[in-house]
Amino acid sequence: MENKDGRQGPKLGSLIFYLLMLVALIALSTVIFGNNYGKQEKTTLADVLEYINSDEYDVTLVDVNGTNVKVSYKDSDGMVKTLNQSVPYEYVDDLVDVLDDAKKAGKIGDYNYTEPFDWSIVVNIAMFAGTIILVFFIFNTINRQTRDNNSVFSFGNNRAKMTDPEKMKVKFSDVAGSVEEKEELSEIVDFLKNPAKYKELGAKIPKGVLLYGAPGTGKTLLARAVAGEAGVRFFYISGSDFVEMLVGVGASRVRSLFADAKRAAPSVVFIDEIDAVGRKRGAGLGGGQDEREQTLNQILVEMDGFDVNSNIIVMAATNRVDVLDPALLRPGRFDRRIMVNMPDADEREAILKIHAKNKPLEDDVSLREVALSTVGFTGADLENVLNEAALLAARRNKKKIGMVEITDSTFRVQMGPQKNSKKLTDKSKRLTSYHEAGHAVVLKATSEFEKVDRVTIIPAGQAGGYTAYKPIEDTDFYTEKMLLDIIKMSLGGRAAEELFLGEVSTGAASDLQHCNSIAKNMIKRYGLSQKFRNMVFGDENEEVFLGYSMGQVQSYSEQTAAEIDNEIKYIIDECYAETKRILNEKRDVMEALAKRLQEKLTVDGPEFEMIYESGGNLELVDYAKKNNISLEEASTRMASETSIFDSVSDVIPEDQTAPAKDNDTADGSQEES
Ligand code: ADP
Ligand code: MG
Ligand code: ZN
Repeated sequence: MENKDGRQGPKLGSLIFYLLMLVALIALSTVIFGNNYGKQEKTTLADVLEYINSDEYDVTLVDVNGTNVKVSYKDSDGMVKTLNQSVPYEYVDDLVDVLDDAKKAGKIGDYNYTEPFDWSIVVNIAMFAGTIILVFFIFNTINRQTRDNNSVFSFGNNRAKMTDPEKMKVKFSDVAGSVEEKEELSEIVDFLKNPAKYKELGAKIPKGVLLYGAPGTGKTLLARAVAGEAGVRFFYISGSDFVEMLVGVGASRVRSLFADAKRAAPSVVFIDEIDAVGRKRGAGLGGGQDEREQTLNQILVEMDGFDVNSNIIVMAATNRVDVLDPALLRPGRFDRRIMVNMPDADEREAILKIHAKNKPLEDDVSLREVALSTVGFTGADLENVLNEAALLAARRNKKKIGMVEITDSTFRVQMGPQKNSKKLTDKSKRLTSYHEAGHAVVLKATSEFEKVDRVTIIPAGQAGGYTAYKPIEDTDFYTEKMLLDIIKMSLGGRAAEELFLGEVSTGAASDLQHCNSIAKNMIKRYGLSQKFRNMVFGDENEEVFLGYSMGQVQSYSEQTAAEIDNEIKYIIDECYAETKRILNEKRDVMEALAKRLQEKLTVDGPEFEMIYESGGNLELVDYAKKNNISLEEASTRMASETSIFDSVSDVIPEDQTAPAKDNDTADGSQEES
């Protein structure tokens, strides 16, 4: 969400203006110099010569003044007439030749001749100048309008958006959470505010601070806040700006950026997305690599070229430290590295509070609840959730944002917008309902840390359906059991298809990918396999996220690779067997949940809990929900009602719960196909 400044919108108007200017220029020159062009086409040399050479006329005077020819003659009646004509410039020479001949032949007397001025030169010069002016204006216009976009015209211009100190209003208080990050950065702020203090003490202040972390975690925001807190100028440029530039432009732009920053010192230079130029050199990424390299080199040169006395702090952000050229991380460059973490539950709540400030919320909204159910959301995601919720509330003509809107938008931000559920066929509803029920039931049966938040078979984004879950308590670690539980939960969809539908679908593709990568990481990164207990493996070319310090990791032989694959298979197979066992045990819950999903498309967390706890007794669940009572109470009340019905059983048809009981007994003996 960068602030592009005001000069956007193509200046089509002024372009047309310049074009009109050119047309006017041409028209004008035609009028001014017009006597030589266009209408004279009709005048041929022959017209003039006819009088000179004809015996009919007694030519008395020939006056050639430039391209104007005046011929005076006496006609057959002895009347003196004057013919005034202009001839094309290129004919003048010929005309003079003819006149000379005529003179020699005695046809005419002496004649006056003044060399013509070549107006066409003037016209050509005017046209040329006009063209240059036009090109200049077009160039200038495009240049101006694209200066903030990616422009090849602004060669070497410093396109960094310089923000005046008073305009940089972002403060640390606008960044929720990130306590450690802010603490580390406050030293930088203090230096920028009072460089002398540090210099007198001979303290070494880092030149470069690299912020790294997942996209949307607030790196750019933090960098702005540093400048805002210190009240210094902020020079922003993004590495991706350089990528499409002409060769040599990137480097010169870096040069002028630093020159400007030095002039404005103390200041902050912020290079966003530095990985776009700062990738490991010689990585052979093909086109544009040279340019990237030159730009990177220039950044290094600039960083080496100034000392603490310049009072410039260079900040950069990336989500890929592992791909950065090691030269960038060397001492004297980005030697201070700050990891910007994903927010935990408390931080998510704080971020939500910041972005909920100007939004009217219904009383039922609990930002704590929202924070708990948005594991894995970044600050940017959370901001997005509240914005989407506001839009939803507006669309629903509400004055305030309710919890429903926030829950709906959370789902939307996570999955992309929901597709039209009316297009669902019964077959796909059936398939997805068992698949999602499988995930939900396995999660409930295994996990102590997470609970189902909602299950839906409304397609959204890439997914056919979705089972959302949230932590019961926030943890920042995973135990081996938790990882295995996640694998089982992921396998739940496919296992359910196999058990209840007798055939498996492609719907489990991303589930399988997910649990395969967890299994792989368990073995290779966390040393959590039977065979390679407490050992870790790394691949040369595998991009371990943020793993810039992986010197210790050993690579391995092909045989080991095969054994690792076997181990992955072992983990998955074990988990799959266990998953099927769980689902088999919970057949009634599965059938009831799938049925409910096919009816209502979505089952929320509390209803899911009830279906599960009741053992799949939908009647009991509905009764409890309708009367807003617990399952136990519903079951006693229903029992007493049933006994009344029992006494008049000849009138009342057979109880609805009977088939469910049949299922119960059938379940124990039934084996999956
Ligand atoms: P990054 O640069 O890490 O990709 P940004 O700084 O661009 O992330 O964050 C995008 C937006 O998300 C910010 O403008 C801000 O509105 C919101 N945001 C991210 N992190 C936080 C946070 N810790 N506190 C408040 N808002 C945040
Ligand atoms: Mg950013
Ligand atoms: Zn699935």
